[in-house]
Amino acid sequence: MCGFDFKEFYGDIGIGYIEVHHIKPLNEISKEYIVDTVNDLRPICPNCHSMLHKANISVENLRDIVEKNHRKLF
Ligand SMILES: [Zn+2]
Ligand SMILES: [Zn+2]
Repeated sequence: MCGFDFKEFYGDIGIGYIEVHHIKPLNEISKEYIVDTVNDLRPICPNCHSMLHKANISVENLRDIVEKNHRKLF
């Protein structure tokens, strides 16, 4: 998503840390539903994840926003 690397920033304690966003809201899927880890989950850093829920936008929309703002910064 934003390319933030926990290992690079935090060293060893950051290894393997990431949050996952469920594309399908959990309250919309039934108990019998088997999560498709490739299509239904997106690994995302906690900052981006918070923004996603705060703004209630799609992963694709957030990626566009991040890319646009990164171009401005660098
Ligand atoms: Zn989420
Ligand atoms: Zn991020």
